[in-house]
Amino acid sequence: MTDRIREFLRNRHDEGPILVVDIDVVRDNYNAFAKALPDTRVFYAVKANPAPEILELLTRLGSCFDTASIGEIEMVLAAGATADRISFGNTIKKERDIARAYERGVRLFAVDCEAEVEKIARAAPGSKVFCRILCDGEGAEWPLSRKFGCVPEMAPRVLEHAHRLGLVAHGVSFHVGSQQRNPLMWNRALASTAAIFREMAERGIQLQMVNLGGGFPTKYLKDVPAVQAYGRAIFDALKTHFGNRIPETIIEPGRGMVGNAGILEAEVVLVSNKSDDPKDIRWVYLDVGKFHGLAETMDEAIRYPIRTPRDGDDLIPCVLAGPTCDSADVMYEKEPYMLPFSLEIGDKVLFEGTGAYTTTYSSRDFNGMSGLRQIVI
Ligand SMILES: *Cc1c(COP(=O)(O)O)cnc(C)c1O
Repeated sequence: MTDRIREFLRNRHDEGPILVVDIDVVRDNYNAFAKALPDTRVFYAVKANPAPEILELLTRLGSCFDTASIGEIEMVLAAGATADRISFGNTIKKERDIARAYERGVRLFAVDCEAEVEKIARAAPGSKVFCRILCDGEGAEWPLSRKFGCVPEMAPRVLEHAHRLGLVAHGVSFHVGSQQRNPLMWNRALASTAAIFREMAERGIQLQMVNLGGGFPTKYLKDVPAVQAYGRAIFDALKTHFGNRIPETIIEPGRGMVGNAGILEAEVVLVSNKSDDPKDIRWVYLDVGKFHGLAETMDEAIRYPIRTPRDGDDLIPCVLAGPTCDSADVMYEKEPYMLPFSLEIGDKVLFEGTGAYTTTYSSRDFNGMSGLRQIVI
């Protein structure tokens, strides 16, 4: 919680849940990444929070952008960044959208199979492609599992196919899983990456770039290592596997760039019990839930720190649920959340670390409730 956010919330007169983002924190995060990985270019993962103020700030600071759709590409261009600072990093793209991105000047694309390479060769001739490899996501609290990437053994075939079709086989990417709390996880992925570089060199193709992905964490309830620890671990792994010939590198932080910049203010709508049995658990219902920005509580993966005006009072385990008429709209139940016994209807509660993956995950009109509003200060 920054002083600016505290001040903003104190003077707030309108009602309804709101996410307040302190842009100064985003600036500090960008500078920390640039300092921790001085030879690495930053491609902000736009999906984490595409607020125009954030994209404009990062454009001014010199950031590049990882995008997943034409919509995100247009938001980045509208923020003033040129197309040469944009990567179309989604491995799943319609050929029409590849053509549209190419028309707008984008020349860097992710692939993870030969079919996607063929689309790009047709719709974005001569562009650079990088091949995403699978990574097991161990140690990540929000793993990205098996949806994106091919096994490392397949990557040379995919990249060679690109080369034959007139594309530039540019490099390799991976993502170690979001909210990755172990900086050593880049080491294994870089071992596979270096093997692909060697294999390609034997085939006469020099790869240039390693995309180290995202995964840099935000502090929620548990402590996380500082960004410098990630910088050191990554640099050590690059030296181990590439020796004196370290390739061009990029990172794609999303959560780590904006997560700690946001505070979500919500309101207690109801506090109740479901029977007269005193052992029965208390339910606390808020005006936000899984469909209003807190989607990452799915499987109770991300546990946000919650502040209430009654912190310091005795605590009681509570099931924490959202306001909609969907029974999946429950945030914490398997592991109930300890909240003050004195918490009352109408109290304001604050979710910390909600700058990433909240507004973009909020539904629009479910039960006639508006999507999560955001203000950047
Ligand atoms: C989501 C995503 C990111 C950002 O991941 P974080 O864990 O939020 O840093 C980076 N790269 C790609 C390709 C992604 O899909």
